[in-house]
Amino acid sequence: MAELAAAIEKVKTAIQQAAERSGRPATSIHLVAASKRVPLEVLRKAAVAGISIFGENRVQEGIAKFEATGFKKDIAALHLIGPLQTNKVNKAVGLFDLIHSVDSHRLAERIEKEAARRGIVQAVLIEVNIANERNKHGASVGETPGLVEAIRSLPHLSLLGLMAIPPQSADPEGARPYFAALRELGHRMGIDRFSMGMSGDFEVAIEEGATWVRVGTALFGRRAA
Ligand SMILES: *Cc1c(COP(=O)(O)O)cnc(C)c1O
Repeated sequence: MAELAAAIEKVKTAIQQAAERSGRPATSIHLVAASKRVPLEVLRKAAVAGISIFGENRVQEGIAKFEATGFKKDIAALHLIGPLQTNKVNKAVGLFDLIHSVDSHRLAERIEKEAARRGIVQAVLIEVNIANERNKHGASVGETPGLVEAIRSLPHLSLLGLMAIPPQSADPEGARPYFAALRELGHRMGIDRFSMGMSGDFEVAIEEGATWVRVGTALFGRRAA
């Protein structure tokens, strides 16, 4: 517990310092604790120690840890940060306060249909394959403007921003050009909120405009694969 609390403090301090360096209010940056494969009892302790937003990768794990247990009522928000399959949309809509991984018209339309059925507006981000890597989730840079326009026309979706996972790099500076590219892509479409940065590079992401950072290992330690 003491170790977890110290890790949370350390990440929060690093976020604050990165915000200061880039002349932005620290309150504009939200820490999303990436909680895949972290057991519920640890997450409860994290919530007590100051984590208010959790991000899960899988719908089923979100249901098991946050909905079935009632834990979701104790936190500010639950996000889906992993890919969403269309056959899981009916369970994801409403459970997740923000879905970071919308990357196709088909998926957006399925979410629209389910949100309409429930009479809610689902907040989403578009995941962009910012380096146009093969075999990677995300809309290509080229198709993103069309997808932005399409989602903006859907009444039960609220497009809050863009998300990206840049190519793996040994050095956090390696990700900087991709974070900058996501920000520039967003700005061209009037978007100024970005989900980018993980344990190894969240400070660089903040310097480049991140408003959500998704941090797992730096909070919870290494997970089994
Ligand atoms: C696991 C995960 C993270 C957090 O990664 P760490 O390197 O553990 O901080 C962020 N985003 C997504 C989509 C993830 O799956």
